[in-house]
Amino acid sequence: MAKHNVERVLSVHHWTDTLFSFKTTRDPAFRFENGHFTMIGLAQEGGRPLMRAYSMASANYEDTLEFFSIKVQDGPLTSQLQNISEGDEILVSQKATGTLIADNLLPGKNLYLLSTGTGLAPFMSIIKDPEVYDKFENIILVHGCRHVSELAYDEMITEVLPNHEFLGEMISGKLHYYPTVTREPFRNQGRITTLMESGKLAKDLGMPPLNSETDRFMLCGSPGMLKDTVTILKDMGMKESRHGHQGHFVIERAFVEH
Ligand SMILES: Cc1cc2nc3c(=O)[nH]c(=O)nc-3n(C[C@H](O)[C@H](O)[C@H](O)COP(=O)(O)OP(=O)(O)OC[C@H]3O[C@@H](n4cnc5c(N)ncnc54)[C@H](O)[C@@H]3O)c2cc1C
Repeated sequence: MAKHNVERVLSVHHWTDTLFSFKTTRDPAFRFENGHFTMIGLAQEGGRPLMRAYSMASANYEDTLEFFSIKVQDGPLTSQLQNISEGDEILVSQKATGTLIADNLLPGKNLYLLSTGTGLAPFMSIIKDPEVYDKFENIILVHGCRHVSELAYDEMITEVLPNHEFLGEMISGKLHYYPTVTREPFRNQGRITTLMESGKLAKDLGMPPLNSETDRFMLCGSPGMLKDTVTILKDMGMKESRHGHQGHFVIERAFVEH
């Protein structure tokens, strides 16, 4: 049995000179849960395919797959991947996995999705999941970047999804979007951790102060962002979901430092 499916690129969107996203065909047998990641890559002439972990930015009920990617200048995969265009072949592993699953969380009222950079990708899948809206009263999507231009998918989050034919009503009533940048003036500024610690995040959103009784968290970002945020949550008495036991929060690395 082949380990990868060969999919075809349907469209490519370049957000900035360091970020792009693309849609591909989807083998109907490829199954995943919203929030999962898989391995994707490119065939290499005369060698093994070059594969990297990627979160699905599309929901598991969609006919096509979508990925949101960084462009690392000398990155083995992304220096090639950033040049793909419609019709090109992409390899997609037949398996998906991951911890950013609503079932891993204790029941709660407010679900905070905290992301930096391409860590937004799995949350684009989760905010399209009707089951997540059934489980929580409020879904708060926080996206931290350096520059405003890096706040990808903002129009999808604020315009397209709230007007979605089937999910629109549920989404517009429950989804709160909090983009924040660190390197230029914007309506929300500062690091996610600083905004949590100062209480500004909850205050700006009109939510009660963060607490372990009602709030659940999914984190996807840089190793530094994860470390600092986990410290804040643990100091508030929260526990990470481990080995299938439900917790107050789950984490996934958006990338690994080499
Ligand atoms: C569970 C998991 C899920 C991932 N999901 C995604 C995703 O949805 N989209 C995505 O673009 N990447 C994602 N990554 C990172 C991805 O696997 C690759 O590292 C990335 O595509 C770069 O590949 P590369 O071969 O060009 O460079 P690599 O050799 O893999 O990386 C080189 C260096 O670039 C930096 N880097 C790598 N990825 C990122 C990133 N996403 N943001 C900022 N800096 C980065 C790191 O410092 C790294 O050391 C994920 C990684 C993990 C572990």
